[in-house]
Amino acid sequence: MPIFFLAPGSVRGDTVTVTGPLARHLAGALRHRIGDQVTVVDETGERYRIELIETGSTVVRGLIQSRLGPPPVPPISLTLVQAVLKNPSLDIVIQKAAELGVRRIVPLITRRTVVRTRGDRAGRQAERWQVIAREAAQQSEHAVVPVIDEPLTMDEFLAALRSDDEAKFLFWEREATRGLRESLESRRAVTHATLIVGPEGGFDPDEVRAAAEAGFESVSLGAAILRAETAGPVGLAILQYVWGDLGRTPREPRP
Ligand code: SAH
Repeated sequence: MPIFFLAPGSVRGDTVTVTGPLARHLAGALRHRIGDQVTVVDETGERYRIELIETGSTVVRGLIQSRLGPPPVPPISLTLVQAVLKNPSLDIVIQKAAELGVRRIVPLITRRTVVRTRGDRAGRQAERWQVIAREAAQQSEHAVVPVIDEPLTMDEFLAALRSDDEAKFLFWEREATRGLRESLESRRAVTHATLIVGPEGGFDPDEVRAAAEAGFESVSLGAAILRAETAGPVGLAILQYVWGDLGRTPREPRP
């Protein structure tokens, strides 16, 4: 059973009012009727079990039956810094990353990025990415929607780097001395990690150098060169498996 993300201000006292696409989704596609129970989460992360008392196609209302509190803190918080790719590849990466429980995605403008990311279309694109992330997080029953930053150049990203990251990787297809597996085997478990993935044309060596100077370890994923849209989700899956909860039994019973 999924958790539905409420728009800010949807909860008033014991009543939850849903409008817009989520109302259409609940009453239309999912055919929820009066008396059905669903789980929703508000913008602060508070989760509620609600019973529906109105199921119109424009307004759905429910009464709070129980407050489930904030979701459990995930064992690892992952940031994916993904070079901007041609449509629809980045959309797919965002969707898969959100399914895999990424917390933050930074679209990266690299030397070999061929797509324009700034200008009039940028706003609409950011909105579309946010919708994709929300729908994927909802589908995967995550209680938190990943944050998608504005596209940054490598220099901008490195200059704004946060310090709480304990593991920082750059996936480099030309890395000849260190693999991700060896690196993970030599490390203790961490709760925050960031990985940088390049564009279709790969990284410029200067970019790899700049990231290395900022503390990123350049690692290989192995002999196979993966497509740019594959490397990120593969990396997230590996880190979630090793340090997160991929492959474990859920810590909370399903609602
Ligand atoms: N066209 C390039 C490959 C780009 S792959 C070439 O032929 O050299 C796109 C991105 O995916 C890379 O920048 C890197 O971040 C990641 N990637 C793909 N395969 C990888 C591998 N085997 N090891 C590390 N990174 C890899």
